[in-house]
Amino acid sequence: MTRKVFTKLLGLFILLLVFHTVVMELVFSRLVTANKLSHAAGDLWPLLGREALWSGLVALALAIPIAAWAAIGISARLDRVVAFARRIAQGDLSARLTVSAGQDEISTMETALNQTAERLGESFAEIESRRQELAAMLDSMQEAVVAVTAEGLVRWSNAVLQNIAGTEIRAGRPLVHALRDPELLACVRAALDERAVRSGRTSSLTPGRVYEINAAPLPSGGALAVLHDVTRIEAAEKSRRDFIANVSHELRTPLTSIQGYVETLVEEPRPNAETTLEFLGIILKNATRMNRLTEDLLALASVESPDYKLARQPVRASALVRDAIDSLGGLVVDSGVKLESAGAPDALVLVDPDAMNQVFGNLIENALKYGKTGKRILVGARLVESGVAPETAAAVEFSVRDFGPGISSAHLDRIFERFYRIDKARSRESGGTGRGLAIVKHIVQAHGGRVWVESELGHGAAFHFTLPMAQTAQ
Ligand code: ADP
Repeated sequence: MTRKVFTKLLGLFILLLVFHTVVMELVFSRLVTANKLSHAAGDLWPLLGREALWSGLVALALAIPIAAWAAIGISARLDRVVAFARRIAQGDLSARLTVSAGQDEISTMETALNQTAERLGESFAEIESRRQELAAMLDSMQEAVVAVTAEGLVRWSNAVLQNIAGTEIRAGRPLVHALRDPELLACVRAALDERAVRSGRTSSLTPGRVYEINAAPLPSGGALAVLHDVTRIEAAEKSRRDFIANVSHELRTPLTSIQGYVETLVEEPRPNAETTLEFLGIILKNATRMNRLTEDLLALASVESPDYKLARQPVRASALVRDAIDSLGGLVVDSGVKLESAGAPDALVLVDPDAMNQVFGNLIENALKYGKTGKRILVGARLVESGVAPETAAAVEFSVRDFGPGISSAHLDRIFERFYRIDKARSRESGGTGRGLAIVKHIVQAHGGRVWVESELGHGAAFHFTLPMAQTAQ
């Protein structure tokens, strides 16, 4: 650079020198001709030529260092500008030029370049912060999102999609290699080819989960697919449909019976008193059943409601067991079944006594209904230790045990579902509605506890539930 500038400046000087010599020569030749000094011209010419040569050489000797000094100064400044431009090109937007003193063109250019770099830096920082905001927003979404190029290569995907895929989905990889779900791939392909929004549904992406897919074309030519997990919505929908079907079915049976007997009584011109009494008895039984059904439904709706509130207070586990036995003792009178305590600690549990009454009531009633043949029902409680030392006890485990026919293992998982009954006819006959254990489960869970059953066919059934101890619950 320095050499180039130097050569140019020197060339300029030499050009000026030659021009100066030619002008001098012309001036002198005119002067000589005008003054008629032709006799001395022969002597004067070499003298003048030498003078011109010397003055030229002196000028050249002066010009060389001046040109070199000017060239070094300019090229050093230009070198700094080139180095600055290289750093900017490499993405280092923090690079700045030291603006030289003086007001020449190069210092004006240096100031302008510094301002440009500053603006670029600000713009890039803003773009980067927006990109990070967008990435954080996409990662915090509940939906899985993936963007693909027109060729079907992944451009980016959010954390939810990576979770679903169970692996990191690298940008630039074909979507078909990352996610092998035919429904999703078909939606994305259709959005890419037809440039229109396409929807679908898939249940094969993750076992047990259902996703709604929405794929839309992007203005850049690619497409964006959003996967919304609708498993819970679909389960709730199914549960609602099942509930309506079950309730209708449960109500239809007693209603049909009532209608049939009432019609017979109405159509019979002179029914005899005995038959009328018998029919009315059946009608009453069915009406009672319907009443019980609606009461159970209301109780279930209340405990399942998000507004369900417990009036909790600290109660001794031993007092809960004793109260349960005392208040339900009336049920077992005349049944030949003994309702006994299996012992309980004095530990305090934080409970709603009315709700607990319902829990014990449902469990003891069931033990009496289905385990009568065992002749004995045991109600008890014990401390459940979370660690080794007794002072680390975290909860109290209550149990209601009968010695009846028990429950086969196939039903143990489903027994707490509403409407689930092992033997529908038998349950109905004994006044069961299939909601008792569902209510128990909800109440126990609302207390922060857990409920389960242990049973084997022919060896009775033991229903257990835990309740957090007072200080743990508080
Ligand atoms: P139900 O109103 O029919 O009694 P529950 O929800 O209380 O409804 O019980 C569901 C089913 O669980 C019952 O229909 C019965 O088949 C079974 N079950 C409950 N408790 C016992 C028990 N102690 N022994 C045997 N089977 C039981």
